[in-house]
Amino acid sequence: MKVYISSDMEGSTGVVSAEQVTYGDPGYEFGRRMQLHDTMAAVSAALDWGAESVTVNDSHDRMTNLDVSMFPPRVTLISGTPKILGMVEGVSGHDAAIFIGYHAMAGTEKAVLDHTYSSKVVYGLKVNGIRLGETGLNALFCGALDVPVSMVAGDTAVCLEASSLLGETLLTCALKDGLGRNSALTKTPDETADLLKEAVKKALDAAAEGKSPVLKMEAPYKAELTFHTTAHADAAGLVPGSERISGRTMVFTTEDIFEIRRWCSSSIDCASHAGH
Ligand SMILES: [Zn+2]
Repeated sequence: MKVYISSDMEGSTGVVSAEQVTYGDPGYEFGRRMQLHDTMAAVSAALDWGAESVTVNDSHDRMTNLDVSMFPPRVTLISGTPKILGMVEGVSGHDAAIFIGYHAMAGTEKAVLDHTYSSKVVYGLKVNGIRLGETGLNALFCGALDVPVSMVAGDTAVCLEASSLLGETLLTCALKDGLGRNSALTKTPDETADLLKEAVKKALDAAAEGKSPVLKMEAPYKAELTFHTTAHADAAGLVPGSERISGRTMVFTTEDIFEIRRWCSSSIDCASHAGH
């Protein structure tokens, strides 16, 4: 079995604040260390389980947080950005996808660092009327490539979000319990490593039995991005194919699910450079 791991940082062991996930900030080295810790636990569990290979995609911010020199043989690290499929770049051809260090979508209560791609500009995202965060959109891209999502790890909120979208056959692994956006009940790294290892093995058992969920949606795809301000929407309006349906909401319709990734990424980039 070829295993794919998309590794974000906000949902990692012990991480609770923006300064712990922002390159150059004083807490960043802690966030980086915990992302690596959780990723290594998942990698070693997959290799122990008997995976033929493991591909790890660094999926946070600049996507150069993980140090390839720390990984054992049979692991490939996808490092750096931009990547056309972003957090699930290179997932095609794998037998199971695992999302770790994930966080809940923007607007979720009791969720550590809840956001959808950008805390600064994105209020919410829908595809075909369904509210999606990063977990949902990435699962949709995996599904379009016939790759099941076998497991999601992060805080309790993202586990609930993932289960409600992907169903009960999805394995989830909660490493902390959000008290708010910037606080949580956390577990020690030794405990979370054990939790992750156990969950990965169960998830790969399920994937091997064909029981992991594959998220599918029918074309055409209508994506709706709502921004925090009208200035963000003004700037996002520069992206070809965008239609403005209200002061802060842009819509894009396509037959090609992967165009949604390009459109969302470009729109968010434009909005991020808007004035106030
Ligand atoms: Zn992130």
